[in-house]
Amino acid sequence: MFWNRPLIIGSIVLLLFLTWLLRGPVEQKQLHRSQLMMGTIIEIVALGEDNEILEAGANAAFAEMARLDKLLSRHYADSDVSILSQSTSGTRVALETAEVIALGLDVAKQSAGAFDMTLGRLKALWGFTEENPSVPDQAVIAAALEGIGPRALSLDGLQVKKQSPPLMVDLGGIAKGYAVDRAIAILKEHGVTSGAVNAGGDMYLLGQKSQSPWRIGIQHPRKQGDVLATIEAQDKAVVTSGDYERFFEQDGQRYHHIFDPETGMPASGCQSVTVISDSVALGDALATALFVLGPQAGLELLAKYPRAEGLIVAADGTQHPSPGWVNYLVTP
Ligand code: AMP
Ligand code: MG
Repeated sequence: MFWNRPLIIGSIVLLLFLTWLLRGPVEQKQLHRSQLMMGTIIEIVALGEDNEILEAGANAAFAEMARLDKLLSRHYADSDVSILSQSTSGTRVALETAEVIALGLDVAKQSAGAFDMTLGRLKALWGFTEENPSVPDQAVIAAALEGIGPRALSLDGLQVKKQSPPLMVDLGGIAKGYAVDRAIAILKEHGVTSGAVNAGGDMYLLGQKSQSPWRIGIQHPRKQGDVLATIEAQDKAVVTSGDYERFFEQDGQRYHHIFDPETGMPASGCQSVTVISDSVALGDALATALFVLGPQAGLELLAKYPRAEGLIVAADGTQHPSPGWVNYLVTP
């Protein structure tokens, strides 16, 4: 007979190969989930071919962020932050808390105290999350600033030491960024290679979207819903701190949630700051520090971090980009 066994098998293999070659493009699925956590809306977008992988990755990433919140938030009585704030001289903390504090202490030092994780008493005093916040008395503000500063906390392994008993710790300027970094790591562990995690302006853009870098708009600090700049990036943290995020008005004046540790008042040099860097935790701390320092000293601080770029919008609305910002900018 003309057909022999090897020929039949060969023909089947060839047919399967041709079918595989001629298959249409594999459908990309997009999973979009959001959850209220850490005082903001956390959004996870995951792209890929396998819905199960995307779903499992996003669920695990949310679970990790919730776990970190229980260590790093002052809203849980048994969090590392609450125990540390209540202790007289310090406490032993989880590895993750120690990592956040180590990075925060470094930015505190580099920024000459503009970034400060010991503003817990001051933050409680201003009460931004309460129903009717108001400007506290100067004397009360001065009392809340006693003993704060870049040397008020120190870290030895997992042991955190406080210099004075009443000192209260607040990781609000860095914890969300750290949690986004961990969420991205978890997504990657699940095999997700493309996606984004955004925690109220603390964002990481993983891989590409439709074979191109991610393209995102940076919120204009004064025109709600308008884009200040459009940037393109992949595998980068993009973090924005603005005076429009959390504020109240009293006697026609805006009081927002980023404090100048020297005065205990909202920092007055900027409307918003965006930092692009490799880690969201670093970008988060830097954005807050730059906001406090203002355009000139802010860009000097940013220059100490060779892989970080940024755009500072000063209080008068003028824009101050770092030298490499232009590499991310999409020109209209
Ligand atoms: P962000 O939105 O990242 O700029 O962080 C603002 C939050 O950081 C505030 O709600 C405070 O919890 C905290 N914070 C305010 N001022 C400072 C500061 N100078 N240094 C570090 N954290 C701060
Ligand atoms: Mg921050």
